[in-house]
Amino acid sequence: MPRSRKSLQSIIERLKIFYGQPRPPEITDPFEMILRENVAYLVADEQRDRAFQALSDRVGLSAEAILSAGDEALLDIARLGGMHPDARVNKLRTIAQTALREFAGNLEAMVKRPLAQGKKALKRFPGIGDPGAEKILLFSRSQPILALESNGLRVLVRLGFAEERKSYAATYIAAQEAVREQVKEDFDWLIAAHQLLQRHGREVCKRSAPRCKSCPLTRSCSFYTTSAIKEGLGDV
Ligand code: SF4
Repeated sequence: MPRSRKSLQSIIERLKIFYGQPRPPEITDPFEMILRENVAYLVADEQRDRAFQALSDRVGLSAEAILSAGDEALLDIARLGGMHPDARVNKLRTIAQTALREFAGNLEAMVKRPLAQGKKALKRFPGIGDPGAEKILLFSRSQPILALESNGLRVLVRLGFAEERKSYAATYIAAQEAVREQVKEDFDWLIAAHQLLQRHGREVCKRSAPRCKSCPLTRSCSFYTTSAIKEGLGDV
C-alpha cells in the first residue's frame, strides 16, 4: 500500500497550537506503568489515578511491598479501581512475582533490550499487549516509537493515514507503517505526539460523534472531506 502524503509533523504542530504543549507524563517507570494499567479496569483516568495513588500511599510501588501486603489492603485498593477487584489483587501479585522471578526486579534493564525483545518481555505481564508495551517503551524513553492508544489510532485512520482493517491489531500495524517515515526520532516529540493524538480523539474526534466543526484538522481529513461531499457541502 502506498504511504500517505499527509504530513504527520504538520498535524502534530496544529494539534500543539490547538491544545498547547502537553505536560510530560508523570509516570514513566516501567513497573509503575504496568501497575497503573492493572490497578483499575474500565474506569476514567481520574479514578485510575486515585487507585494508583492509594497503592502508592498504603502499600508502596515495589514488587516486594506488593507481595508482603495483606489481602484486605490490596482488595480495598482494587475496589477503588472498579469492577472485579479480586481479579485485580491477583494481577498485582502476578506482576510483582513476574518482575522478581523473570527480571530480577529490574525492568529498567529489560526495557533497554532491542525492540522485539522488550515488547515480548513486557507482554509477559497481565493487561499489556503490543500498544501498552510500546507506550511503556516510549514513556520510559527506551525506544523511539510512536505508540498509539485507541483514540490516537482512530484519529490517524479518520485523517486517512491508514484504512480500518479486520482486526484492531492489523489497523494498528497499518497506521504505524503509514507514518513510520514521518515520525521524528525524538522522545519529546514522540511522547507529545502520542498525548496530542490521544487528547484529540477523546475530546474532538470522538468515537461515535466526531466534533468536526471544532477541529483544526478538517483540511487534512479524509473522513471530513468524504462526509462533506456526501452531504453536498461543496469544496472542502
Ligand atoms: S475533521 Fe472530524 S473526523 Fe477529521 S480529525 Fe477532525 S474531528 Fe476527526
